[in-house]
Amino acid sequence: MTKFVISWLHSVVLLKIVHMKNWLIAVALLLTLFTVNAQKETPKLVVGIVVDQMCYDYLYRFYPQFGKDGFKRLMDKGAHFRNVNYNYVPTYTGPGHASVYTGTMPANHGIIANDWYHRPYGKEVNCVDDTTVNGVGTTSVDGMCSPHFLRANTITDQLKLTYPGAKVVGVSIKDRSAILPAGHMPDGAYWYDYSSGKFITSTWYKNELPQWVNQFYTSNPFDRYAGQVWNLLKDSSAYAYAKQDNSPYEVLIGGKSAPTFPYDFTKLQPTQQYNTFTVLPFANTYLTDFALAAMEGEGLGKDGVTDFLTISYSTPDIAGHAFGPYSLEIEDMYFRLDQDLENLFKQLDAKVGKGQYVVFLTADHAVVPVPQFLTDHHLPGGYLFLDSREQELRAQSIAEFQVDVIDRIDNDNVYLKKEYLGSPIEDQLIAFLQKRISEWPEVKAVFTKDQLNASPNDTWCKMVAAGYDKERNGELIFLLQPGYLPKSTDNEAAHKGTSHGSAFNYDTHVPVLFYGKGILPQEVFTPYEIVDIAATMVHVLNIQRPNAMVGKPMVELFKRKK
Ligand SMILES: [Zn+2]
Repeated sequence: MTKFVISWLHSVVLLKIVHMKNWLIAVALLLTLFTVNAQKETPKLVVGIVVDQMCYDYLYRFYPQFGKDGFKRLMDKGAHFRNVNYNYVPTYTGPGHASVYTGTMPANHGIIANDWYHRPYGKEVNCVDDTTVNGVGTTSVDGMCSPHFLRANTITDQLKLTYPGAKVVGVSIKDRSAILPAGHMPDGAYWYDYSSGKFITSTWYKNELPQWVNQFYTSNPFDRYAGQVWNLLKDSSAYAYAKQDNSPYEVLIGGKSAPTFPYDFTKLQPTQQYNTFTVLPFANTYLTDFALAAMEGEGLGKDGVTDFLTISYSTPDIAGHAFGPYSLEIEDMYFRLDQDLENLFKQLDAKVGKGQYVVFLTADHAVVPVPQFLTDHHLPGGYLFLDSREQELRAQSIAEFQVDVIDRIDNDNVYLKKEYLGSPIEDQLIAFLQKRISEWPEVKAVFTKDQLNASPNDTWCKMVAAGYDKERNGELIFLLQPGYLPKSTDNEAAHKGTSHGSAFNYDTHVPVLFYGKGILPQEVFTPYEIVDIAATMVHVLNIQRPNAMVGKPMVELFKRKK
């Protein structure tokens, strides 16, 4: 209402001024009128950053070594929400990115894992696989991707619906981490092609790479990034794990004989190099430079309508799986990522303008320390060796029912063979399997689809239910004990490296930071859930809540100077 009164007043004054033939003032007033009506007090650009596998405590572990304009800029000059957790399982990359950007859980957005057994197709699918599209910039299968499995709208979708002039671009090394944040109708989503070392897209988005992408590749930038040897960035005294570089808990990569610095992959064949490159911190720099090229090429943050750039750093996860959180490699990875962020923020200051943009940073999940490391240090943890457990379960099924009723076990889900679904003995089979699996000492709890459909109150059951989709999940889902990881077989390799996916705090507690236009520096300890980030961004962007959003706004962010 007030806006209309102001508009009306503007018009009256405008007429008078026009009458006075003072065109200059009239034009200036018209411009203010336009900006007020275009999008009230919104930033020119929002940059959503996901750091794949970043644990909450990394902010503090590495704080003394961070420069003042990377992570520290967000922590010290932005709003820091220190108590945000994932509120569902499984805590994987696909579900994490979908939940951050839709403001709802896998039960609603349908991205229940990175890969799952898709019964309608009778095979395993990746969450962004799409056989109806082709790669653009590549002929490899890496390009056959789209967000078609994503059942809910993202805040980026909603921004495009509300303000057609808004531009949305998503970039990442991982396909799913570029695709899911950018939503269904972005101006572009670009991810890394393991067969060429270049960023590519698919025909879901466009039929040709834009000119700025071709421009980016005129100087053959891949060789510049991949041609470097990974050494420590700082003096060894800056690192807590300087003396434990040769750790028994780390995976050997790129044909190395010890998991130690330096990491020199420059002599590998290109096909091998395209793979090993994504574990190196230089891949973060490559992605940052590509994101900046996208910003420039697409003209993001250049007009009165808010644009949205999503960046997801995959390399910290790829390296994190190999080395584990308590490693020299991860320390150095974050010291270097800090420099990439500093460069990104300085470019945003220069290109979009200080105070003209909003950044948020979070993670798609965190990670458990290497379970073997935990047990060696008398901490709870261990492994579930799935091959032998599965064999045992199938044998029990045959002994009881004279037939193996299990189709497959995937992502801690048990899928019954199709012929038993809806059959008179389905409930009996499920009850039997639940009883047998709950006897496994590595398992904390096992839930049936009926329990998950019954709006459970139990903390763990509720988290599993929030990640359950009736078409894509199995008939039973089990949860491992704290500190446990599933592995196929017990061999030397199984005890190295780590992963994530659980309902426990080492996987669910992640950083959440907001910085930029209108945001006051503050630390907030109110507990929030990961789905609340998008619900908060709704009010930064002045958009409708996306269709399946259940998150609530983190109201502290909207505190204004008195
Ligand atoms: Zn991972």
